[in-house]
Amino acid sequence: MKSGLASTDRLRQVLTDADAVVIGAGAGLSTAAGFAYSGERFEKYFSDFEQKYDFRDMYSGGFCPFPTEEERWAYWSRNIWINRYQNAPKPVYQDLLALVKDKDYFVLTTNVDHCFQKAGFDKKRLFYTQGDYGLFQCSEPCCKETYDNKEIVRQMLKTQGYVIGEDNALTLPEGVTPKMAIPSELVPRCPHCGRPMTMNLRCDNSFVEDEGWHKAAERYENFLRTRQGQKIVFLELGVCFNTPVFCSLRTGKSETKTLRKQRNSGHLQILTTDYEERRCA
Ligand SMILES: [Zn+2]
Repeated sequence: MKSGLASTDRLRQVLTDADAVVIGAGAGLSTAAGFAYSGERFEKYFSDFEQKYDFRDMYSGGFCPFPTEEERWAYWSRNIWINRYQNAPKPVYQDLLALVKDKDYFVLTTNVDHCFQKAGFDKKRLFYTQGDYGLFQCSEPCCKETYDNKEIVRQMLKTQGYVIGEDNALTLPEGVTPKMAIPSELVPRCPHCGRPMTMNLRCDNSFVEDEGWHKAAERYENFLRTRQGQKIVFLELGVCFNTPVFCSLRTGKSETKTLRKQRNSGHLQILTTDYEERRCA
């Protein structure tokens, strides 16, 4: 949150007065926490791909038409690992948890990087609407299943030459140049139909809404239904105007520079300043 001390104080006061808080979080929150998709972080892990394919950030890399599945998974294994299994460099999510942990809260997020759970938010109070980097799904979904990918992604990285530290740090031993392809036997395939797997990310209509997704959706609906008539703060953080989390509530202008309050059907909505876009990738 870049809103500064005064705004944080105001937010604290608003939260104190509220019965419950619903956080809507977009990509800007993770960018603020140090999960940048370009610059130094991109160079550190993808300079070889940059040189070969001339893309300059992890978002563009996600659209690169890699010639083989082996190369595609070398790229994605690095991307998934650093954005899903490593911790965010800055304690933005921890700071947010400190603000709401004693409140009756629920989080709705378009982020797929698991930062809320890594920071200690209650997973029963989280709804990742757009998927999770930590899950694979069938590329042409033959069923509504998803699969944890941590171990296979770890193996993909090791075969490229990376060493994974205790804190999931990714390093290359001195003199080692990372391979830009994984062995064919590690290319993930659907256990039911044998088609290639892909990330469980909502980028088109093949996104799998698995059992966990439906349970989270139900918990969110229950949360709202059982708190009707209460004073709820809808706190929207790190979203851009093209991808709001609370679509139906947003009515204002994009150039918000300070905390903004808005009465909306008896609810208090607060929007913050951090409109950095990183879209779904
Ligand atoms: Zn399948």
